[in-house]
Amino acid sequence: MPRLLPHVSSPGGVLAVAGAALLAYAALYASPYELRVLTVAGVYALAAIGFQIVFGLAGALSLAQGAFFGIGAYVTGILGSRYGLPFPVTFPLSLLLPFVLAVLVGLPVLRLESHYFALATLGIAQVVLLLAVNLPDLTGGANGLAGVPGIAAFGVEVPRGRPLAAAVWAAVAAGGLLAWWMARGRWGRALTLVRDDPLAAATLGLDVGRLRLAAFTVSALYGGAAGALAVHTQRVVSPEVLEFPVMVSVLTIAIVGGRGRVAGAILGAVLLLHLPEWFRFLEQSYLVVYGAALLLAIVVAPYGLTGVLERLLPPPAAVPVPPRAWAERERPAGTVLCVEGLSKAFGGVRAVDGVTLSLEAGRVTGLIGPNGSGKTTLINLVSGLERPDGGRVVLNGREVTGWRADRLARAGIARTFQTASLPAGTVLDAVTAARLDRDGSIAAAQAHAGHALERVGALHLGPRDGAALPAALRRRVELARALAREPAVLLLDEPAAGLTDDEKADLAARIAAVAAGGVAVLVVEHDMDFLLPLVDRVVCLDGGRVLAQGAPAAVAADPAVIAAYLGDAPS
Ligand code: ADP
Ligand code: MG
Repeated sequence: MPRLLPHVSSPGGVLAVAGAALLAYAALYASPYELRVLTVAGVYALAAIGFQIVFGLAGALSLAQGAFFGIGAYVTGILGSRYGLPFPVTFPLSLLLPFVLAVLVGLPVLRLESHYFALATLGIAQVVLLLAVNLPDLTGGANGLAGVPGIAAFGVEVPRGRPLAAAVWAAVAAGGLLAWWMARGRWGRALTLVRDDPLAAATLGLDVGRLRLAAFTVSALYGGAAGALAVHTQRVVSPEVLEFPVMVSVLTIAIVGGRGRVAGAILGAVLLLHLPEWFRFLEQSYLVVYGAALLLAIVVAPYGLTGVLERLLPPPAAVPVPPRAWAERERPAGTVLCVEGLSKAFGGVRAVDGVTLSLEAGRVTGLIGPNGSGKTTLINLVSGLERPDGGRVVLNGREVTGWRADRLARAGIARTFQTASLPAGTVLDAVTAARLDRDGSIAAAQAHAGHALERVGALHLGPRDGAALPAALRRRVELARALAREPAVLLLDEPAAGLTDDEKADLAARIAAVAAGGVAVLVVEHDMDFLLPLVDRVVCLDGGRVLAQGAPAAVAADPAVIAAYLGDAPS
C-alpha cells in the first residue's frame, strides 16, 4: 500500500506533526481557560520527563517525584512571596534543593532492593509534607502562601495566558531535548541495562548504584523545575503540591504515555490533564479516571501510547555495522588469577569451602563436580556477585578480594551465566552494552560488538531480538558479550548445556581460539567428551572443597572423583 505521507511515517515526523498541531491549537484557538490547562499539562510533562529517566530508563520505582515537585514549588513560593526574590534566583534554587535531597537519600538506599527503594522514597514525600504543614511560620501551614510573583527576568514579567504557556512549553521542549539526548547515548543505554538486568550490568563494568543515583538526581532536577513553574502558574503554593495525587499523576502519565519515552511523558501529560476536562461529569473523582487509564494501559498497552504508535510505524531499518577489531594487546603469560582458601557459606551451607586454584594465561581450566558442589558460587565470588567470607583473590598480582562486580569487570574479569538471558532488544545492542564503559561513542562500541559477534560466528544475529533467541544461540551471544570485554580472565558457567554435538565441537574450537589469544579461561561443564580434550587442567569440586586437580586424564581416573562424580555421570 503506498503511503500518503511518507515523511510522517517516522517517529520524528509524527512528533513534528503533533507538535505543530499543539502549537496551532495554543496560538490560534485555545481560550484562556484552555491555555491554563495546557500550561499545567506542560508543568506535568516536565515532571514526568524526569520521572521517565529514573523509572522508565533506570527502572527504579521512585515515589519521590511528587516530593521533588513540591519542594521546588515551596522554594519558589517561599522565596518569591516572603522575600520577593526574582525568578533567576528562585528557579535554580528550586532545582538545587531537590537535587541535594536526592543525593542524600539516594546514596544509602539506591543499592537496596527496588521495593525498599520505593518505600524509602515514599518516606521522603511523607516527611516533606509533614514539614510543610507543621512549619506555618515558614510555609504558611495548611493554607500555604499567596502572592507568588510570575516568571520575570531583567525587569520583564511574562504575562499570563499565551506568553506563560509558551514559556512553560519552551522549558518542556528544552528539558525534553536534553532528556532525549541523554537517553539515546551511552548513559541511557547503561541505564536500560541496569533496569533490565542489573547483575549482567555489573559484570559488564557498569556501576549500578552510581548510575541509579545519577538517574535519581536528574529526576529531582526535573521535578524541582516543574514545581517551580507550577507555582509561577498558580501564584500560590499550598500543601497540595506535596500530596500523593501529584505522584499518582506523574506515574500515570509516564505509564500511559509510554515508559522511558520523552514523547510518552508529553503525550501522557497532555492527554491526562485534558481527561478531567472532557469528562466533566466526574468532577472531583478524576483520580478514578487516572486509575482506570493506568489499569487499561498496563493491561492493553504495556508500552503505553508511544508503544502503540511505534508499532504502527514501520520499524527503523537495521543499519549494518562494520565490525572493527580492537587493537591487539601484548599477550600475557603465566598465572593471571589466584584464588587462595576462598570460602562462602549460605546459612549453614558451606557452598565454597577453602578453595585454592589458579588460572594461567592462554590455558583452559575445567571445573567439574556434582550439582551443588559450589561451581557457580565460585564463579560468583571471583566475578564479585557474591562477597567471600574468607580467603583471597589475586588478579595479575593485585589483591582484589571483596571488590564489587563492576570494578572486577573493569580489572579484566568477564563471565557468562548458567542460565543465559539477554535483555529485550537487538543482539547487537546487548553486546554493545559490554563496551559502554570503555568506548568513547556508541558507533565504536557497536563496531567492537560486531567484532565480538563475528568471533563466535554470530554476526548475522545482530538485528535479531536477543530475548527471543533459542537458548543455544543466547549462550553464543552471551559469550560474544563477555569476549567484547577483552577480558584477561573468562569464566564460563556451563556454556555447552543444551548444545548439539556439532555445536559443542564449534564452541570448543572457539574457546580454544580465545585461550590461544592469551586469555585465562575457566569452563564449567558436565560433558567429559567435550571438556577433557579442550582443557589443560581440571579441578573437581565436591561439597565446596577441591577433591582433585591436575591433568585431565589424571583427574578423570582419580578414584575419589569417579566415586563422587563421574561414576554416576551420564557419559
Ligand atoms: P553448582 O554450580 O556446583 O551446582 P552452586 O554454587 O550453585 O553449585 O551451589 C552450591 C551450594 O550453595 C548449593 O547447596 C546451593 O543450594 C547453595 N547456594 C548457592 N547459591 C545460594 C544462595 N544465593 N543462597 C543460598 N544458598 C545458595
Ligand atoms: Mg551451577
